[in-house]
Amino acid sequence: MPAPYDAIVIGGGHNGLVAAAYLARAGKRVIVLERRERVGGAAMSEQIFPGFTFSVFSYVVSLLRPEIIRDLDLPRHGLHILPLESTLTPLANGDYLAQWNDHDQNRRELARHSARDAEAYDEFGLAMHQMSRAVKPLLGMVPPDPASLAPRDLAGLARLGGYFRGLGADRFHALHKLLTMSSADYLDEWFETEALKATKSASGIIGTLLGPRSPGTAYVLLHHYMGEIDGVFRAWGFAKGGNGSVSAAIASAARGFGAEIRTEAPVAKVLLQNGRAVGAVLENGEELRAGGVVSNADPRRTFFGLVGDEHLPADFVDGIRRFRFRGTSAKVNLALGELPDFTCLPGAGPHLRGAISISPSVDYLERAYDQAKYGEFSRRPYMDIVIPSMIDPAMAPPGKHVMSIFAQYAPYDVNGGWTDARREAFGDAVVDTLAEYAPNLKRAILHRQVVTPADIERVVGISEGNIFHGELSLQQMFFLRPVPEWAKYRTPIDGLYQCGSGSHPGGGVMGAPGRNAALAMLRGGV
Ligand SMILES: Cc1cc2nc3c(=O)[nH]c(=O)nc-3n(C[C@H](O)[C@H](O)[C@H](O)COP(=O)(O)OP(=O)(O)OC[C@H]3O[C@@H](n4cnc5c(N)ncnc54)[C@H](O)[C@@H]3O)c2cc1C
Repeated sequence: MPAPYDAIVIGGGHNGLVAAAYLARAGKRVIVLERRERVGGAAMSEQIFPGFTFSVFSYVVSLLRPEIIRDLDLPRHGLHILPLESTLTPLANGDYLAQWNDHDQNRRELARHSARDAEAYDEFGLAMHQMSRAVKPLLGMVPPDPASLAPRDLAGLARLGGYFRGLGADRFHALHKLLTMSSADYLDEWFETEALKATKSASGIIGTLLGPRSPGTAYVLLHHYMGEIDGVFRAWGFAKGGNGSVSAAIASAARGFGAEIRTEAPVAKVLLQNGRAVGAVLENGEELRAGGVVSNADPRRTFFGLVGDEHLPADFVDGIRRFRFRGTSAKVNLALGELPDFTCLPGAGPHLRGAISISPSVDYLERAYDQAKYGEFSRRPYMDIVIPSMIDPAMAPPGKHVMSIFAQYAPYDVNGGWTDARREAFGDAVVDTLAEYAPNLKRAILHRQVVTPADIERVVGISEGNIFHGELSLQQMFFLRPVPEWAKYRTPIDGLYQCGSGSHPGGGVMGAPGRNAALAMLRGGV
């Protein structure tokens, strides 16, 4: 008897939904099994306090691949991305550094700090743009294995060589530097304004237990440069309704193509028959059968939780065991009775419609990291803040606001563990630090939610709460993600694939792993 489904997708995170949508679009019978009561994984919105809606985890969009938006016609399914127009970095001396989307305004502001940096800025932007363009095609490709002589790998390597050759010598050398340097050292070569170097280098430390002076962080900076919105490179935006509306739009597209989506359907294990994945067994014992299975869970959960190491080759098991998670990012979500009033730029100006970065200097970030190195959370953390209700007023009751604070470092294995008291102590460190720049903040807070890596693990199900399903560090990128020889969405189990952020090209609300995995499955005959 044929299996009732062609494919089972384990997990309804945005990548699982993208995979389901592409498979269903190709005419396959697909079911998504999501353990939680809602889809979206780390890309979800929730009304945590009456009237106040939060993007509880991920909060801004940029990396979502344009081809996915097009192929799935996501605007028709409700996706609406509103641009974030600035980044404000308040400084300890009462001044600030602002970066504006408007070119002339930005140049004037930079020149206020350094004429040299104002000059270098355009050139830097161009260099990053060119490198992003060269690296961007890699996001959509199955990483070729440089150690393989298989025709497909050799063809992939030749294509790769073509992308790099197209960069020209200077940009290629710069790309090599980006791949090997720390973000602080790399930015030192371009700029002198401390706050500018710090704010830019902060993109390099997001999601990693590394500091801005750790080698390899410059590449993560490029990863964050690869986003685009409506063809504008490097633009960050805010999804109307929060990041849950990104997942809702993808789910709606998947359903439109005929995919079935079941929530509150936790999978206990992948069903194996003669070494092949033939379905999934739910925690309640129900069995579902399919021609192929794809897991949106992270590599550790997939292989050790859903498959079992006894079914896997020993070297593969070792590789997955070594794959580093080390969650370090936290969120503090605030419901506010009034807007924060920044001493450096008082009032409700346009700066409150953009991002606010607490990154006054590279030393500040490195000190925040120092504490995490020894198992403590940062007493004065790095923060990336947005006030979504300034862009989408429906997120909060009239006259009130929601504030989303992404904060580092809050190491998963903090000394003594994440007790309730320690979680709140971290929340206090975040609020106290921010209140130094916006003194009315404490008075403005109506409600507060603190989300640590332990909470991310518990709620979203990501091992060690790493926001990217495993650090985006060079030793676990591209043909090494999650392990060498198995970075092609396939796994050592026939018929079992991976489509989560633990596979190439990694985390972020990007959809690329989901799309690439679905295309690999279709090529594999699922
Ligand atoms: C705090 C935080 C802030 C972030 N900020 C941003 C940001 O602003 N912008 C950005 O681009 N990215 C951000 N990210 C990263 C981004 O959100 C993630 O990389 C991405 O959402 C992961 O998507 P995914 O589909 O691969 O996995 P997930 O979202 O983790 O989805 C996996 C799904 O699988 C389900 N699942 C797991 N096991 C089972 C099982 N046994 N049975 C059934 N279902 C199962 C889970 O419940 C979950 O729904 C952030 C992440 C976090 C946590």
